[in-house]
Amino acid sequence: MGQDIGDELLRQLGSRLQQQAGKQMYAARLDGNEFALCHTLNATDQTAAEQQAHQHIESVLASLVADYQLHGHTYPCKINVGMLIFCPREIESVGQLFKRAGLALLEAKRQRDGEPKRFCAVLEQKLEEDITLERELRLAIDSGALSLHLQPQVGAQHEVIGAEALVRWHHPQQGMISPGRFIPIAEQTGLILPLGAWVLKEGCRLLGEWQHDTRLRDLKLSLNVSVRQFQQPDFVEQVTTTLHATAAPPERLTLELTESLLMSDPEGTIDKMLRLRQLGIRFALDDFGTGYSSLAYLKSLPLDTLKIDIAFVKDLTLDMQATPIAATIIALAESLGLDVIAEGTETADQCTVLARLGCHVYQGYYFGKPAPAAEFARRNGASSPTAS
Ligand code: C2E
Ligand code: MG
Ligand code: MG
Repeated sequence: MGQDIGDELLRQLGSRLQQQAGKQMYAARLDGNEFALCHTLNATDQTAAEQQAHQHIESVLASLVADYQLHGHTYPCKINVGMLIFCPREIESVGQLFKRAGLALLEAKRQRDGEPKRFCAVLEQKLEEDITLERELRLAIDSGALSLHLQPQVGAQHEVIGAEALVRWHHPQQGMISPGRFIPIAEQTGLILPLGAWVLKEGCRLLGEWQHDTRLRDLKLSLNVSVRQFQQPDFVEQVTTTLHATAAPPERLTLELTESLLMSDPEGTIDKMLRLRQLGIRFALDDFGTGYSSLAYLKSLPLDTLKIDIAFVKDLTLDMQATPIAATIIALAESLGLDVIAEGTETADQCTVLARLGCHVYQGYYFGKPAPAAEFARRNGASSPTAS
């Protein structure tokens, strides 16, 4: 709503906090929209301290979340709370207190359930693990410890028509680490940029290599692209240069984007997509149905495919009871003139139901798990002794 209204909200919130402050409580503004409260508890044991702390937070929150009047309009305000209970005698340093309270706040922001989150040793351990993983990931990107695994995408006759590339990290001590663990860290730390650039190069290199094999050259390859990666000002140039360098045919390359990209900068996204489209690149919307797509934007995007999220495929059974969401997505795709792929297809029954609903392209364990690129090429290429 603009800087003015934001400032006014902070001012009003600050004065509500001041009204609460007194002998036993200090209030301070730390930074931006972050505030700190320091409240003295009169408890002799941990349980009583926790109870008091919760009661206190509840009463402060009740005053803070009550609607705000800003420039003649009424606004609600959502507040995340991180809580740390400490005994003054046991403080190592003020820095440590802030770090721990900050961790609890981070957890509250992550979980987004409106509940105050309390600092605990597990949070600290997780943070330390994340920091170690970040340092190791930084090295892994340059040292060849990443690889792409390919998962087949199949058509109506269950013939392989392409693959999705999924990044894997071979950790020297921990073995294979799943992208579910390290992609969020890469996104938080900015490492997603070199990582994404590596995936783009390696994916295009494979596509270029496939052009020499008559059975692989018509296959499409999908690459996952993170919001931050796509939003780099020179992303289109990066893709153009990589395609050139690897002689990969752009029309065989699909970029998988997520709905969050559309929410953060719809106009910029459409512009970039159009420029990439001119090169011949195709686009799929990943995990469709789990975000909050604006249907109006969906219509104006140069998309080719919607990928039905695994969550809606999982429940499909032959009795057609649990189909409304999958059916709706398929109908929506059809009305927008888009292809649709069902992710996470694990059984023949799911496949049958999807086909009945009008979805004829599938990806999932039923057709093949992600496998190293060389194995995928062996199974599907001309030189394969086991090619079918
Ligand atoms: P995604 O793009 O939605 O990928 C599909 C995920 O579902 C993959 O997990 C895949 O292994 C898994 N999957 C496929 N078929 C089945 C099935 O039949 N059953 C079940 N239970 N799971 C199935 P994976 O490889 O762990 O990747 C997880 C997520 O990590 C991906 O979700 C994607 O969001 C992200 N990711 C993976 N590689 C990259 C990458 O190169 N760049 C970026 N930015 N993100 C990536
Ligand atoms: Mg994907
Ligand atoms: Mg997906």
